[in-house]
Amino acid sequence: MPITTLSQSIHVPARTGKGFRLRKGDLIRITDLEGQQPVDFWALNTADIYEHLSCEHTKPSIEKLFPHEGDAAYTTHRRPIVMLVEDHSPGQHDMQFAACDKWRYLELGAREDHASCQDNFHKALRELGIALPYTPQPWNLFTNFFINPDGTFSVKAPATRPGDYVILRAEMDAYVAVSACPQDMNDTCGGKPTDVRVDVGR
Ligand SMILES: [Zn+2]
Repeated sequence: MPITTLSQSIHVPARTGKGFRLRKGDLIRITDLEGQQPVDFWALNTADIYEHLSCEHTKPSIEKLFPHEGDAAYTTHRRPIVMLVEDHSPGQHDMQFAACDKWRYLELGAREDHASCQDNFHKALRELGIALPYTPQPWNLFTNFFINPDGTFSVKAPATRPGDYVILRAEMDAYVAVSACPQDMNDTCGGKPTDVRVDVGR
């Protein structure tokens, strides 16, 4: 299901975020331009922003650790909000971890003003004219947290290559936000945060 009618094409520079308003049925293509770049993704129901994409609610609905091609991500009200309709990537889209935030960077020894996915999320919402008083756990696209059979995990560099992308379809009218993760203190972004592109259409 390619995008045949493009309505927006936005270049998202490394370490920044962007918000979009989607109508039900809109497609959003998220491209890792240089490879090894995670994209934190949020989606909120425009009619009630407290009904939003929830990793905790998605996992029991799909009985997987994260959606694969053909699976939806679900809301706090256990309804599909976006469907992963095409996955042209190695298919690692973590749902275990909170967004990086200033406290995570302080914990790792960075300065308090280090860019973070949490700040990018709230800034993207402000630009859409909305506000949420907390940060839902994002869906971490292109993120390679490998969970070992004994319950430990390994933070590995993403396996994505330049130009890898996913296409999601809005299953309800939704605000969505993306953050090109600025994590440069471990292997989450392969050590070097880079730009992504977001295309929206039908
Ligand atoms: Zn991040």
